[in-house]
Amino acid sequence: MFFPSEPFRIKVVEPLRRTTREEREELIRKAGFNVFNLPAEAIYVDLLTDSGTSAMSDNQWAGLMLGDESYAGSRNYYHFEETVRDIFGFKHIIPTHQGRVAENLLFSTILKEGMVIPNNIHFDTTRANVEYNGGKALDLVIDEAYDPHIDHPFKGNIDLEKLERAVEEYGPERIPLVLLTITNNSGGGQPVSLENIRQTRQLLNKYGIPLFFDACRFAENCYFIKEREQGYQNKPIKEIAREIFSHGDGCTMSAKKDGLVNIGGFIGINNDELAAQITNRLILIEGFPTYGGLAGRDLEAISRGLQEVLNEDYLNYRISQVRHLGQMLEENQVPILKPIGGHAIYLNAREFLAHIPQHQYPAQALTVALYREAGIRAVEIGGLMFGHKDPQTGKEVYPELEMVRLAIPRRVYTTQHMVYVAEAISNIYRNREQVKGFKITYEAPVLRHFTVRLEEID
Ligand SMILES: *Cc1c(COP(=O)(O)O)cnc(C)c1O
Repeated sequence: MFFPSEPFRIKVVEPLRRTTREEREELIRKAGFNVFNLPAEAIYVDLLTDSGTSAMSDNQWAGLMLGDESYAGSRNYYHFEETVRDIFGFKHIIPTHQGRVAENLLFSTILKEGMVIPNNIHFDTTRANVEYNGGKALDLVIDEAYDPHIDHPFKGNIDLEKLERAVEEYGPERIPLVLLTITNNSGGGQPVSLENIRQTRQLLNKYGIPLFFDACRFAENCYFIKEREQGYQNKPIKEIAREIFSHGDGCTMSAKKDGLVNIGGFIGINNDELAAQITNRLILIEGFPTYGGLAGRDLEAISRGLQEVLNEDYLNYRISQVRHLGQMLEENQVPILKPIGGHAIYLNAREFLAHIPQHQYPAQALTVALYREAGIRAVEIGGLMFGHKDPQTGKEVYPELEMVRLAIPRRVYTTQHMVYVAEAISNIYRNREQVKGFKITYEAPVLRHFTVRLEEID
């Protein structure tokens, strides 16, 4: 197994506290067996999310000291604008403090009741912002994306036939734009090919519908294109990025992912009129257009992060580290989602804990076991997150997949941490019969997984 070693060395360290099994047992009980209720200090390897958890470089930290905190016209804004335009190419660059505000501004501006936004798969904040503004969020990814065993190089591709059918069903006047999420977060961090992007563009041209990108993990998507798509092996990542965005009319971005920062986001958009409307709303809810809810120093850190993320040594290490963890698990027969995506490994909890029925939340049982055994925090993506009562029958409806996501923060954990995680999970897998199911003792009416409390079933 080949893993390119880290293309950095460590200058500052953040100590991790090790807990005993007894301490973890008490903490997880107190938390109602919900890992969102755990204090982060009691976690050894935190794989809850790759969002906002990146380690910044010395260059980014140095940039913080050059923050120009002028209310209007900060030099950091001009640097930010220049950097984003250089990579993404859009005419107007509007900073926001994170991705969902970019979504809120975009959809509150363009959506009218009854409109439809197709996507490969909407990320949950995107879907929420579409629906909150009276729109309907359509997921039109290729069918392969829903089968955890199919190995497809571009499992994030949108299905062009489904898209054309949707355009015909709803009519182009009810589709103000189509989004492509690169990489497709909710579908396992799977990439979209440039061919698919080009064909989507061609299809939309027929109807005059704009194409936007949800660009959070654009650099990881570019790396997969370079690796897997014919004709791109010798292209620099930046050229691939430019080619992608040349097919778009705009994008929303959470810089908390491929911006390599802890906070920030933006909208890129070509349309002057829309940009003006969005900017007016920005002033109302975020701030003046040259800071958009961020400090000048944050804008500087994003500019530098966006340049660093295009570095091929970095991307090779990044994608390989995630893949390496997946391969170590596969060597121990641990069932995972295939192929391995860009930012996370997904454990297939239905197969992992085949003895636990879905109404006893196998993915949550595995999430709890990871914390108990090894102080690792992952996140349940299964019956707890997506299960709900059918309003007609009153019966619980469960999602197709029961997954546990291990999201890998960028530049934060070493190979040895990944070995530790793989060994801990493999150990649980060997002793999986001992893991027990759960039942809910408290749940909120919406987004219950954040605050749910559970009890172990004996
Ligand atoms: C994280 C994310 C968002 C939302 O960004 P925030 O910065 O968390 O508000 C939107 N889309 C995708 C694909 C994401 O991964």
